Amino acid sequence: MNTPTSNTLFLRAQQSIPGGVNSPVRAFKSVGGTPIFIKRAEGAYLYDEDGNRYIDYINSWGPMILGHAYQPVVEAICQRAAFSTSYGAPTALETEMAELILSMVPNVDLIRMVSSGTEACMSAIRLARGYTGKNKFIKFEGCYHGHADCFLVKAGSGLATFNIQTVPGVTAGVAADTLTCAYNDLDAVNQLVQQNKGEIAAIILEPVAGNMGCIPPAPGFAEGLRKICDEENIVLIFDEVMTGFRLAAGGAQERLGVKADLVTYGKVIGAGMPVGAFGGKREIMEHIAPLGSVYQAGTLSGNPLAMIAGYTLLKTLKDNPQIYQQLEDKTAYLHKGLDEVLQRSGIPYIINRTGSMISVHFSDKPVNNFADAATANNERFNRYFHHMLNAGIYLPPSAYETWFISNALEQADLDHTIKATEEFLAKEA
Ligand SMILES: *Cc1c(COP(=O)(O)O)cnc(C)c1O
Repeated sequence: MNTPTSNTLFLRAQQSIPGGVNSPVRAFKSVGGTPIFIKRAEGAYLYDEDGNRYIDYINSWGPMILGHAYQPVVEAICQRAAFSTSYGAPTALETEMAELILSMVPNVDLIRMVSSGTEACMSAIRLARGYTGKNKFIKFEGCYHGHADCFLVKAGSGLATFNIQTVPGVTAGVAADTLTCAYNDLDAVNQLVQQNKGEIAAIILEPVAGNMGCIPPAPGFAEGLRKICDEENIVLIFDEVMTGFRLAAGGAQERLGVKADLVTYGKVIGAGMPVGAFGGKREIMEHIAPLGSVYQAGTLSGNPLAMIAGYTLLKTLKDNPQIYQQLEDKTAYLHKGLDEVLQRSGIPYIINRTGSMISVHFSDKPVNNFADAATANNERFNRYFHHMLNAGIYLPPSAYETWFISNALEQADLDHTIKATEEFLAKEA
């Protein structure tokens, strides 16, 4: 791809924005090269400032589940904007949004809207601590729950990509209350819980992990955590920022058939607008201000443009359950095609997939946790990324990210992706 305008824009951006980007994974730092600057997007495709077209497997890191510039969402935002963009006072729309979410997801009695997944997760942890009166919590290596201080310990996503182990600015005191263990390792969780008996407020996890590539939970893992939490009076938090409204209308809770006490949302819930939410059991949620004294607030929380965008998308998903089957079929088709060409190449690989989350690890052994993902041949992934980009296919620029399938993708797009992969493998052999 010829991207002279992106190259110029990136040089200019670095003069006024740290690293030229407003979120680190966009920088292509680990895969090398210059990030492409996007001018517009429609359906399954991104168009850069030089007019190149790319099949999009990031989809804004999840939200664009029906593809870009989905007309009903765009129209709803435009209509609402004429009524002013924010009031800082309640609206009927916020209640409609809450009622819609409650009608779609299990085990949520009350829900509070915020403006990002980070906010949702940090608020859920504060609430779990306030509710239980305990300080420590357990997270899993390679899981990402946003950039609040307490989560930046052995985190996935950009921290894994850039190999950032400890984050300057996060105090030792804060980090000390964050306990970590390997994903899919119930014994390790049990041990931590016994070593810190009566001190653990919460266990938070991505019920299907997507920030170390895609890593599904081992059979019994989520169920085992549920049992530990019940026995030890620990709040189980499902971070469904990635999985919510993607793996099913009711998210991972529905797909896995396991109940969480608190759930966090982001990404799809806002249809590409800045939205997050946390919700759960009434008994716990009633501790949030103004009902209780666990304080949490937001000037732009429940913003009308963000709410109408999210509402329009979620209502479409609710009213058209066949969309989830279509997403499943498309991703399964891609999975099968990639599997065939990879198998034929003789290059070691693992494809992990749950629903419309999928990723390729160039690994010769199963990838069940962060250590497995880290020992894969990630230099090969970087070459793969660039080969695909050149072929007009935009994969996440890191082996530590899942690919997000949108329903705008058509068979020709998937076939092109499989064929480009085959060409890459021929070069590598
Ligand atoms: C993206 C993500 C977050 C953070 O959401 P932001 O909106 O980027 O703050 C939290 N948890 C998970 C699982 C995510 O994938």
